[in-house]
Parts: sequence; structure tokens; C-alpha cells
Amino acid sequence: MGQPAARPSSLVERKLHHLGLLDPSDFVVHLPIRYEDETHVIPILSVFSGAPAQVEGVVIHSEVQYRPRRQLQAVIDDGTGTLLLRWLNFYPSQQKQVAVGKRIRVRGEVRSGFSGFEMVHPKVTVAGTALPTALTPVYPTTDGLSQVSLRKAIDQALGVADLGDTLPREVCDEYDLIPFADAIRVLHHPPANISYVDLIERGHPAWTRIKFDELLAQQLSLAAARAARRAQQAYPLSGGRGTLVQALLSSLPFALTAAQERVIGEISHDLSRSFPMHRLLQGDVGSGKTIVAAFAAAQAISSSSQVAIMAPTEILAEQHFLKLVSWLEPLGVSVAWLTGSLSAKARKAATEAIESGRAQLVIGTQALIQDKVNFANLGLAILDEQHRFGVGQRLQLSRKGEASHGGTLKIPHQLSMSATPIPRTLAMTFFADLDVSVIDELPPGRSPIITKLIADTRRDEVLSHVIAEVLQGRQAYWVCPLVEESEALQLQTAVDTHLQLVQALPDIRVGLIHGRLPSAAKQEVMNDFRAGLIDLLVATTVIEVGVDVPNASLMIIEHAERFGLAQLHQLRGRVGRGSQQSICVLMFQPPLSAVARHRLRAMYETADGFEIARRDLEQRGPGEFLGVRQSGQELLRFASIETDALLVERAQDAARELRDRYPEHARAHLQRWMRGKQDFLRS
Ligand code: ADP
Ligand code: MG
Repeated sequence: MGQPAARPSSLVERKLHHLGLLDPSDFVVHLPIRYEDETHVIPILSVFSGAPAQVEGVVIHSEVQYRPRRQLQAVIDDGTGTLLLRWLNFYPSQQKQVAVGKRIRVRGEVRSGFSGFEMVHPKVTVAGTALPTALTPVYPTTDGLSQVSLRKAIDQALGVADLGDTLPREVCDEYDLIPFADAIRVLHHPPANISYVDLIERGHPAWTRIKFDELLAQQLSLAAARAARRAQQAYPLSGGRGTLVQALLSSLPFALTAAQERVIGEISHDLSRSFPMHRLLQGDVGSGKTIVAAFAAAQAISSSSQVAIMAPTEILAEQHFLKLVSWLEPLGVSVAWLTGSLSAKARKAATEAIESGRAQLVIGTQALIQDKVNFANLGLAILDEQHRFGVGQRLQLSRKGEASHGGTLKIPHQLSMSATPIPRTLAMTFFADLDVSVIDELPPGRSPIITKLIADTRRDEVLSHVIAEVLQGRQAYWVCPLVEESEALQLQTAVDTHLQLVQALPDIRVGLIHGRLPSAAKQEVMNDFRAGLIDLLVATTVIEVGVDVPNASLMIIEHAERFGLAQLHQLRGRVGRGSQQSICVLMFQPPLSAVARHRLRAMYETADGFEIARRDLEQRGPGEFLGVRQSGQELLRFASIETDALLVERAQDAARELRDRYPEHARAHLQRWMRGKQDFLRS
């Protein structure tokens, strides 16, 4: 019709581009977020407040009002009742559209106003035209791209896109899936008689098919990543004749738990293979992961390889250092120590020992991944509290050990440790290329920690708790509140609290530790606390992970309502490490928000890290749970790992079957679902 079509369409194209819609196959899976039911008109008599409705009637009144503010008002009548329509902004053309006497069809959300039911800013069309026979899809869009243009573009794409099934018939039958093309058509143009609830809540078989496909693609790509890792090479570290491991075993002051023995075995097996280990060791706080790391290190070292252990904080790294030195140095292992706060001279000595290979075990913080640090032959990289590190940092440590050997690249084995368990479905969905070992048993002789919730108005009671505990020769932590806005403020709180407690508890030796202390001072405080020279340690969250002083039996957390669930659990895990009864007091300031109450209740009700993680996931959702640093990849678009756990398992089975029996289909499926998401394979 002679109109300059090129310019507006290129604007639309740019917007579509912005939504990631390039190829027809992208449009196919750009699915509605909701639907509008424009398939029928109802009598005004039967509308009710809070629900969308479509009605038709004759305009019996129309005027522009100026009070309380300028607005267009019209009233329609359909013989069963009347309905008020209001527009706060309007064009003259709209005014004409609702002139008295016109028959119009309006659609919008009904609410009860001053004078009965009304619609604000309804959509108006001419009455009596044919009604659509399908629900109207509403798509996720972007500024400046109307639903109408988007719908048109999608319908066009649907006309040319390949909707062929990527799954063989047998697989669809086995997993009870409707054909892909049917699912796509239903979701873009749902028939009028469809169950609206099923459609919206994504329980309809069409949604099931799409969610299944998405999860399947994810499983396939994770399997591909795993296969790629297995194709890499690593030095097998089978531990020579295992003398070092034997020596460690016989020198231990305690017997390993069955769970520790099992995971040590799993790791040992991985280390002896010629492709790199990629294993996560999960174990609740206090379950004894450090000694497991020591066994892994011993095996690697007796295969003449270097081992690095990286911890997220200096306090934790130092603690590992002390422990590992006490376990391994007597057996002849040379251990080096590297953190950012070393003097230039000490650092030089450390880096030289690392570079020459003299240091067999290297323990430190992020300082280990600095450019200047070169390993002679790093064969095993261990990350403690791995969730504190980003993917990039993990890779950087691993790269320190990459070596070209006769033309093939050797990759070091990697062991990550964490007390923050990844719930099973999350592990299956996002970490399937990770082998997981679980320590599901605490060392014997620990009595469970008693958790108390106490309002901060009862501070005096808490103080007498502290006195009682100290009188019995025990020690306590006092954790100061998080101050989200400012680290400086948090520091100040710790300093103030320390002062208050020194005054309130004159007979008690009160210490203070926080992140800003010079590292030598931090070390001194921790040493004093460990040696029992400090009774009560006032701390910021620097003590959150790893700190292990078995004689400490009381943990007080101020403003517990400000902490996250995982963090509270970690903090609580600082006590209950000896044989005496331990107590964790969560002080809170009422009134509590619903979320805070839920969190504190979870802490009160359970001490099981897996259960805590599950509730945490429930509250925060997987995106936040994984954290930006963890995931770096788009989370699922259609499936939800909370509600579709069953589908995740089925998709995992199907992925196996597809890879084994229908590799061509697996490829096609990945092609359809993973277009432009190749990064995903590199997790
Ligand atoms: P986490 O898993 O939280 O890192 P640690 O490795 O710090 O736990 O261990 C917690 C405490 O339990 C440490 O004091 C450690 O020496 C001790 N421990 C570890 N394994 C055993 C065991 N099998 N029997 C007794 N104590 C153990
Ligand atoms: Mg630990």
C-alpha cells in the first residue's frame, strides 16, 4: 500500500533483536507469560471486582470531568447492568469512540469504585465483531515493542519455523510427552476450551513438554561438558606405594568416621585417573572436611606432585595451615604459606619455594592466584568454602597447574569443599558436571547445639549466660550485627559492642576481631582465643567460616534477623565442636518481618545443613541461591527446579537414553535449545 515499510520494520527488528529473537527457532520458544481471554463477552451483571472481564454495551453517558482531576468518564449499559469507564489520560479520538449512543466492547480489570463497578483504562473496540477463538497470548516484551507487533512477528515465524520433533517417538511415548509442534501451537494459540488454570500454572501437557525439553537440553549440555572433561588429561596421582597416606592414618589423634573413610576413598579413586577430578566435597559445618583434604594432599604429594589449598579468608587459611602443618610436617612434608599480608621477604621466600617445587603443599588465600606465583608442578588444587569463590578464581588456580607435556595439556585435579550444601535438584540441574561426595555424619561425641531465640530486650539474661559459661572454663563468641550499608559502620558496631561488654563483664577477658585489624593482630587474637587467654571473642562475620576452637561452647549472634540462613548456620557451626553441650543464642529485635521470622524459625527447628539449604532455596529461589558469582549463566526459562523436581529426574534419564541410543536426536535437541548459549558448556 505504498507505505515506507522498511523503517518501522527495522525498528521492530531491533527490538526483537534486543529480546534475543533472531532466528525463527528463537520465536518458537518465546512463549507467553500469560493469556487474556477475549473469546467471550459476559453480561455486566456477572462481572466481579478484581477479575478481568469483557463486556459490550451502549454508551449512555459520556463526559470529561475536572474533579478530582481531569478525566474522561463513560457509562455503558447492556440491559443487565451499567459499568463506569474511566481514563485519566486520553486523546480526542478516544472521546469520540465513547460518544453517547455508540455500541462498544470493552475489556479490562473490574474493580469497585465509588459508584459501583468500574474499569480504568479499558481496551475499547467496536461491539459485535467476531470474537477470537483462542486465548490471546501476552508475551514478555521490551519497551517500545507492542504486543501486537510481537504477536505478528511470532505468528510469521511460526509459519516458517521447523517444528519437527527432536525426540524419537519411542522417547515421547516413554515419557508421556505430546509432540513438540502441538505443544508450541497450544501455547501460542490456546483453544478457548483449554483449562485456564493449567495454562497459567504451567501444568498443561503442552507446558510439561516444553519444560521437559528445556531440562533435557540442559542435561545434555552438562553431559557434553562432562564428556569434554573426561577427554582432558591429568597426571594420575595414585600415591606411589601410599606410604604417606598410611603414615597420616596411623598418626591421627582420632579415628575417621565411616563417612570420612568413604569420601577419602572416592577422592583417592578420582586422583588415580588420567583425566582431571572435578569433585565437590560437601559436609556440614564441623563434619571434618579438613582431614579429608589432608588425605587427598598426602596422596598427591606422594605421587611427587604439588598441592595448593586456597581459602577465602586469612583466618581460615591460617587455621588450615596450623592443622596441616601439625598433621603433615612430622611426616616430612614441607608446607608453605602465602597470603597478601606477608612481608616482601617472606613472600619472596614462599614464591621461590613454590616455584622450585621445594614446597610440596601450599596453603593460602587468593594470593595464590596472583600472576607472580608459579608452581613447579601443581597436580591438585583444593578450594575450601568454594561457594565464596567465583568461577574465574577457581579456573585461575587450576591454570597454575596446567602444563604442556609432550604436546598434550595436563590439567590439575580439583577438589572443592563446602559446608553450604547444594540441594539435590539444584546439583542435578546446574552442577551435573561435578561429582559430589557427601560427609553425612558428624564425628562422634558431639552433642547437638541448643538454639535459643531471645529478644534483645533480654540482653541481661544473655550476659549472665556468658558469665555462667566462662565460669565453667568455656569460651564464647559474640557476633556483631551485619550493617548492610556500610562496612565502616559494622566495624564501629563491633568496636562499640566490645567496649560495652568489657564494661558489663569486668571479670571476663573480652577480645575483639574484625576484618580491618592488621593481619598480625588478627593472628594474635585468634591464637589467644585458641589458647584460652580470651574468654569472650567479639567478632564480625570474619569468623563465619572455618574457625575451629573446640572449647568454645556459646555463640551469641546479635540482630540475627539481619543474617541470611546459610550464614546463620555457618556461624552456629563455630560451636558444638567439642564434647560439651553448646548453645547458640539468636538475639533479635522485634518486630520481625515474615521472612526473618521464617529464617529464625528454621534455625530453631533444624540443625541439619541440608534441610537449612532446602529452606534457603525455597525462600530465595535458585538465582539468588546460586549467586551471580556461581552461575554466570541464564537460569531456566520455563521449568522451575523447585516445583519440577520430578521432571528434572526424568529429563536426566531421558538424556542418558538419548545419548546412548539416539545421538542424532540429542544433537538436534541441543541445537534447538542451546542456540547462542555455548558458554553454558564451560561451567
Ligand atoms: P569442617 O567440615 O567444618 O571444615 P573441620 O575439618 O574443621 O570441619 O573439623 C571440625 C573438628 O572436628 C576439627 O577440630 C577436627 O580436627 C575434628 N575432627 C575431624 N574429624 C574427626 C573425627 N573423625 N573424630 C574426631 N574429631 C574429628
Ligand atoms: Mg572447614
